Amino acid sequence: MTLLDHLTEVYSQSKPQPKKCKVEMELDRTNASDKERQALDGMLAITAYSPVRPGAIFVNTTALAQALRSAGLDVSDKTLERHRKKQCICFKSGAKE
Ligand SMILES: [Zn+2]
Repeated sequence: MTLLDHLTEVYSQSKPQPKKCKVEMELDRTNASDKERQALDGMLAITAYSPVRPGAIFVNTTALAQALRSAGLDVSDKTLERHRKKQCICFKSGAKE
């Protein structure tokens, strides 16, 4: 490799990686479709404290995590809980939440 190759390599390795928690990483790993991501996001967005709206049914985190695990995603209840409460790394630094 030339010096330029080495420099290009070290440069690309130094680029900040998008920060994601295990939930997002597992969605990436299993190639979840946009439709699947939207379905999950929609369900995560409805919390026990959300105003009651028609069609907005609260699904508890344990049940959701179980559904994800059934689909082959390695996601614990705790991890999903943090993602749902936006306490995970996905919602830190730069993200305007
Ligand atoms: Zn997350």
